[in-house]
Amino acid sequence: MTESGPLDNMLAQMEQAREYVDIDDGIFERLKYPERTLSVSLPVEMDDGSVEVFEAYRCQFDGARGPFKGGIRYHPTVSEEEVSALAGWMTWKTALVDLPFGGAKGGIICEPKDLSQSEIEQLTRRYTEGIRRIIGPDTDIPAPDVNTNPRTMAWIMDTYSVYQGYAVPEVVTGKPPEVGGTAGRVEATGRGVTIVTEETFEYLGTDVEDADVAIQGFGNVGSVTARLLDERGANVVAVSDVTGALYDPDGLDIDDVGAYVASNDGRLEGYPEADRISNDDLLTLDVDALIPAAIEDVITVDVAERLEADVVVEAANGPTTFDAANVLTERDVPVVPDILANAGGVIVSYLEWVQNSQQYSWELEEVNRDLEARLTTAFDEMLAAYEQKDIPDLRTAAYTIALERTADAHEYRGLFP
Ligand code: GLU
Repeated sequence: MTESGPLDNMLAQMEQAREYVDIDDGIFERLKYPERTLSVSLPVEMDDGSVEVFEAYRCQFDGARGPFKGGIRYHPTVSEEEVSALAGWMTWKTALVDLPFGGAKGGIICEPKDLSQSEIEQLTRRYTEGIRRIIGPDTDIPAPDVNTNPRTMAWIMDTYSVYQGYAVPEVVTGKPPEVGGTAGRVEATGRGVTIVTEETFEYLGTDVEDADVAIQGFGNVGSVTARLLDERGANVVAVSDVTGALYDPDGLDIDDVGAYVASNDGRLEGYPEADRISNDDLLTLDVDALIPAAIEDVITVDVAERLEADVVVEAANGPTTFDAANVLTERDVPVVPDILANAGGVIVSYLEWVQNSQQYSWELEEVNRDLEARLTTAFDEMLAAYEQKDIPDLRTAAYTIALERTADAHEYRGLFP
């Protein structure tokens, strides 16, 4: 069976939810297309003096509910189709957790591992120059995503501010605290995944302290999730990165794994205190929760048919293909959708933007309290929709809420011109 790419997956998810929600045909049609995508080519002078041209995008999917919002990723598989899907998911995510934002996403086609710090800085600044025509604190606010981080956001903030002639911290979120970043943003996505996993365990009657968890991906989201679930008493039995997976049926020592990765150029490879298994083995482990925390399309139909976890919590965006998700529904394996599970990042981005706009900063406790309140409300709303409307799966339930809120905004605003 050929499985479709992320954009077809997202559109199929929308169509599936449409059956359970009353949306005007014209508005639904509008929701299927991004409002605009800016495509830019970025000439960069490399360290050896040569010039390389990189292709990049910024897609603004839907802005009916507020300024566009979404991260920027640096990855070889970035494409116009992929950023459109990711921008669509940002639209449904911000609507589901009820933030006053639309959805966007950007990406540069590159392999950051092959670039020096200074080349990444030049590329980031050139990209910011390319998209500064359409971003801004009231129009479109970027943030980190795969392979970008607070350092990258500081370069974006600086480049944009230099053009404006004054500091504009609120043009981007996920910044270092020194230039207007908020307490708690770096950990926010992983903290959100942890909160949602705990809520899910409670719903399923699983005790977090007895739970075995496997996490695919050990970047910012995967590693923070592993640490926080470990702190709550769960057994994190497997983690992985591109070099393969580590497995210990008694639970990995996550602090030790984290320290090893920090001293090993960010890689798990060579960690001596655990067995090595493949990424495919990790995805099919018999655990209480499987948490894919890397990129799209890792749970295919083939994996879904062999998957043994009791629940999947999607920390990555789009990790389960549409067809695979339907296989899991048939097999009674619940999937907690990405647009809820990983929404912690954009929630705390929103809190950062609010603090910047007010020129006031909050304590970490206040940020974390707000994050938890918004996520648990959205979780309860998703479950209520799932139970009341007799919907087959949690993602479809989440989509009914997100689509309805976005469609209502279009309805009120009307069509112009
Ligand atoms: N890249 C993150 C996501 O996919 C965060 C986006 C943001 O904070 O704007 O949700």
